[in-house]
Amino acid sequence: STQIRIGIVGYGNLGRGVETAIALNPDMELVGVFTRRAPASVEPVGAATQVFPMSALDTDRDDIDVLILCGGSRSDLPEQSPAQAARYSIVDSYDNHARIPDHFAAVDAAARAAGTTAVISTGWDPGLFSLNRVFGEAILAEGSTYTFWGRGLSQGHSDALRRVPGVAAGVQYTLPSEPSIERIRAGATPELSTRERHTRECYVVLAEGADAETVRADIVNMPDYFEPFDTTVHFISEHELASDHRGMPHGGFVIRSGTTSDGTAQVIEYSLALDSNPEFTASVLVAYARAAARMNRAGDVGAKTVYDVAPGLLSPLSAEELRAGYL
Ligand code: NAP
Repeated sequence: STQIRIGIVGYGNLGRGVETAIALNPDMELVGVFTRRAPASVEPVGAATQVFPMSALDTDRDDIDVLILCGGSRSDLPEQSPAQAARYSIVDSYDNHARIPDHFAAVDAAARAAGTTAVISTGWDPGLFSLNRVFGEAILAEGSTYTFWGRGLSQGHSDALRRVPGVAAGVQYTLPSEPSIERIRAGATPELSTRERHTRECYVVLAEGADAETVRADIVNMPDYFEPFDTTVHFISEHELASDHRGMPHGGFVIRSGTTSDGTAQVIEYSLALDSNPEFTASVLVAYARAAARMNRAGDVGAKTVYDVAPGLLSPLSAEELRAGYL
């Protein structure tokens, strides 16, 4: 068949999102989910989706074109990406920005030796935001680049919040600072402090007998996590938490504000407003899997980032169709 055959490695939020996204792309076909857990304990979204043990990838299978790796960045991907790139073309969403060069080197060595193509660190940040930061600076040589995140649910800050004594449950949202964004949109290029970039909003269910004012003070004064920001704490019921804060929204802005001659301001803005961070990230991974399959067929092997993948390769349309309909 001419379809691109995909395997999902690791089945959490992102893995479920990839399964859903593949169903929206007629040129893609899902071979199955590969998990470290007992396959019978994993319930896929689709009734027809097959679940296999991870070891089913150990024999060099010829029914998979690209594996989409959906493990966590902290400890899964540093191990899984090089290991699988030694046998299959892969795509991952490795998001530990400081360690991307090391991750690239490890995956590149494995992929080159095996003749596979491995697109690492794609998604939206890193991923689409990374692309837009580079577009902005390449086009407007003089100016400043800003990335704002939110409104979005932050897993790390929600975890920190839940460790505060007196907090029974809660979530944390990161919000971009609207006044700062307005200044930049108007052509200014300010130096922004941490406090001027983002604010934080906490929704907390108090533990029985806990004092709201003490809990609020403990949260807003927590070093690193909340103290450097203007933090608002809202106390809500368990019921409200369950009904109003179930989703995983996220998004943000990449803005390049510059000048091309004295007094001539030019502003480029790219923004995302996402109801579901994992479903959107998964949609990006699936488009890059299409590119990985095409690059591998063309003999373009080794590790790649979004900077190395031509935009046309992401589209299900041919180069001819794109020239005729989209230029
Ligand atoms: P997650 O739900 O925690 O899943 C991570 C892994 O944990 C899965 O692959 C799965 O592996 C295992 N797992 C999932 N549910 C489990 C359960 N109930 N019990 C035991 N193990 C379970 O993480 P995620 O939300 O999918 O995010 C994965 C990564 O995506 C994040 O670490 C982040 O780095 C990355 N990400 C990147 C971007 C970007 O823009 N680049 C955006 C969002 C997220 P097994 O099936 O093998 O057990």
